[in-house]
Amino acid sequence: MLTKTKIYLSSPHMGGSEQKFVADAFDTNWIAPLGPNVNGFENDLKSYLGNKKEVAVLSSGTASIHLALELLGVSRGDEVLCQTFTFSASANPIMYQGATPVFIDSEKETWNMCPKLLEIAIKDRIQKYKKPKAIIAVHLYGMPYKVKGINAIASKYGIPVIEDSAEALGSTYFDQACGTFSDIGILSFNGNKIITTSGGGAMIVNTKEEKDKAVFLSTQARDNAPHYEHSTIGFNYRMSNVLAGIGRGQMEVLDDRVKARRNNFEFYKTNLDKFNSIEFQEEGEGVFSNRWLTCIKTNSFAQREQIRLALLEDDIESRPLWKPMHLQPVYKDYLHFTNGVSEDLFNKGLCLPSSSNLSQEDLNRIMGIILKNQIL
Ligand SMILES: *Cc1c(COP(=O)(O)O)cnc(C)c1O
Repeated sequence: MLTKTKIYLSSPHMGGSEQKFVADAFDTNWIAPLGPNVNGFENDLKSYLGNKKEVAVLSSGTASIHLALELLGVSRGDEVLCQTFTFSASANPIMYQGATPVFIDSEKETWNMCPKLLEIAIKDRIQKYKKPKAIIAVHLYGMPYKVKGINAIASKYGIPVIEDSAEALGSTYFDQACGTFSDIGILSFNGNKIITTSGGGAMIVNTKEEKDKAVFLSTQARDNAPHYEHSTIGFNYRMSNVLAGIGRGQMEVLDDRVKARRNNFEFYKTNLDKFNSIEFQEEGEGVFSNRWLTCIKTNSFAQREQIRLALLEDDIESRPLWKPMHLQPVYKDYLHFTNGVSEDLFNKGLCLPSSSNLSQEDLNRIMGIILKNQIL
């Protein structure tokens, strides 16, 4: 009997030259958190992002968010406004700093941070406590958030924005790359992201001075001395030269990966658009999503579960949308400004298999199962 292969939600997809860059690292003995691949990967990212920003590659997206909060001076007693509809890594670094998260719900169009609720929250916190120290907004599933709306409010109140672009490398907003719209952008190269270094991240900043500071802090904050001298607390957050080699190889195929993921989206959308009960995350004016994951919102929890379980039965991985942070046990006691949008998405939404290496046969197999499941 022919056994079907497992289909993953989002699997790594190597391009071909990754091993060459890794071999270079071995051949030259640059097996350290510095070296030609680190510089090369940073230059590749810098030019991909439009050459207006500086990039420091780090050990993970989570480390990048943590270091961003550190650079912005966030500490105990500070509040940070964070999109509630996201992966926990967007919010956890707020806790690492001993600061306090305040969660903000999404709007229905992009499924990302609602500018109106953001302003309501800022006014409330200024009136009842003090001005929040930072905003963490997320381009979730690769879909750009309402950049103009969020930035207008952030600058009105003078609050810096950390742009969690972990899922959005390759997405643009009015032809400008996601990750470059804010005070500090961050990327992730974890195994499930659109390109991967097996584990890794990056920080995107405005000036060379900020980059130098990030690199200094990420390499244990060593002062200039022959011995080890420290006047600040540092971190061990720099990316290794071996992993940066994988990143350089992946940059060569990033545009192909975006195309493949957008094709997945088009396939799902073309086949499911006729059903009124299925909604997609739509691209508004000027918006281009890398379609990291194709997500649908069904009309009920029961329908979502029916599709998810039927896929699972055939060894196909799908996943409910992110559970909002304000509903997570670990964050249940924190303040939140909500409107029901993210909770509804969590209850009825499903991420469909979206790897860039899915074959047409894979896609047909997935669609066959979805269509068998009582969609209205
Ligand atoms: C993956 C991810 C992160 C964390 O990145 P890591 O590299 O896995 O630490 C942060 N935010 C979002 C939205 C993510 O999807």
